[in-house]
Amino acid sequence: MIEDKNQQRTSLGNLGEFGLIEHLTHDITTAQPGTLKGIGDDGAVLDFKDKKIVVSTDLLVEGVHFDLAYMPLKHLGYKAVVVNVSDIYAMNAKPTQITVSIAVSNRFPVEALDELYDGIKLAAKSYGVDIVGGDTTSSQKGMILSITALGEANAEDITYRSGAGETDLLVVTGDVGAAYMGLKVLEREKEVFVVNPQNQPDLDAYSYLIERQLKPEARQDINGILKALELKPTAMIDVSDGLSSEIIHLCRQSGVGCNLYEEKIPVDPQLINVCEEFNIDITTVAINGGEDYELLFTIAMEDFEKIKANPNFTVIGHMTQESEGIHLITRANTKIPLKARGWNALQEE
Ligand code: ADP
Ligand code: MG
Repeated sequence: MIEDKNQQRTSLGNLGEFGLIEHLTHDITTAQPGTLKGIGDDGAVLDFKDKKIVVSTDLLVEGVHFDLAYMPLKHLGYKAVVVNVSDIYAMNAKPTQITVSIAVSNRFPVEALDELYDGIKLAAKSYGVDIVGGDTTSSQKGMILSITALGEANAEDITYRSGAGETDLLVVTGDVGAAYMGLKVLEREKEVFVVNPQNQPDLDAYSYLIERQLKPEARQDINGILKALELKPTAMIDVSDGLSSEIIHLCRQSGVGCNLYEEKIPVDPQLINVCEEFNIDITTVAINGGEDYELLFTIAMEDFEKIKANPNFTVIGHMTQESEGIHLITRANTKIPLKARGWNALQEE
């Protein structure tokens, strides 16, 4: 028998609410100069001087947004922070603090919450944000996790979804679609495991996809790169629900149309192989998959020179007059209207 190192199970009831908060937060320190008071009082106290404050919240519900059967708690904690700081980066702002609220049933031992907080603390460190508060309560069933991120920016640097112009270029960072196929691979392995628990999956061929699903990173680097290029996007959004649905958000809020070119959409070679294996259309996954946490933005045409040789960026299309609509131009040069199917719709197929 293999000893399970996580065998120790301390019941939440042993600690009580205040004991648990103390247990989870006693080693949290703050590093942002703007954090005047973090955890420990009725409220945190923050100083943003002459900066504007950007705030974003996400709520994650077990069984709806995550499945602990293939999402280790440490990864869940990490990802929950990433999702939030990604929203702050998408405003062209710098994340500075987060609050963390959890509701858990007594099915979870203290050790499980330690793992969750290991992930949260690791992400907070890697994105340079202070954990300045939160709330801890019980739930009847399952786990609910909500994180709020705060960030700062100069007023003139903030990018909204609404700023895209009719002739702007559409640009995406990194590659898209991998996180969705990572989930498909994990779901398949879970089914195999149910039938044959002895089976040790060989996941090498899927490593990038699984990493994109389980340990996504927000594009912490892009704000600095844009600044160095003296480039301010006209509009920006992060890719959480899928390229297609994010493009539609930018278009609707900016009052423009868009042509997205299928042949330009950046995908990883591993995604191409796995889509073949699963017999799924690569472009469908790339535009509808979601959870990529890349940044999607528009720039004025005359700024093309600034990004054209930069490996972080791919121009995937251009905006048009609103009356022209929002289309995917396929490799065969046909025009298909883009639909916001997003993450959930794709799951139901
Ligand atoms: P109150 O009853 O005034 O809301 P709590 O006893 O809930 O205060 O919380 C005490 C302190 O611990 C507060 O600073 C709060 O922000 C912080 N806190 C509570 N739960 C968490 C958590 N899950 N993660 C981080 N900080 C927390
Ligand atoms: Mg409270």
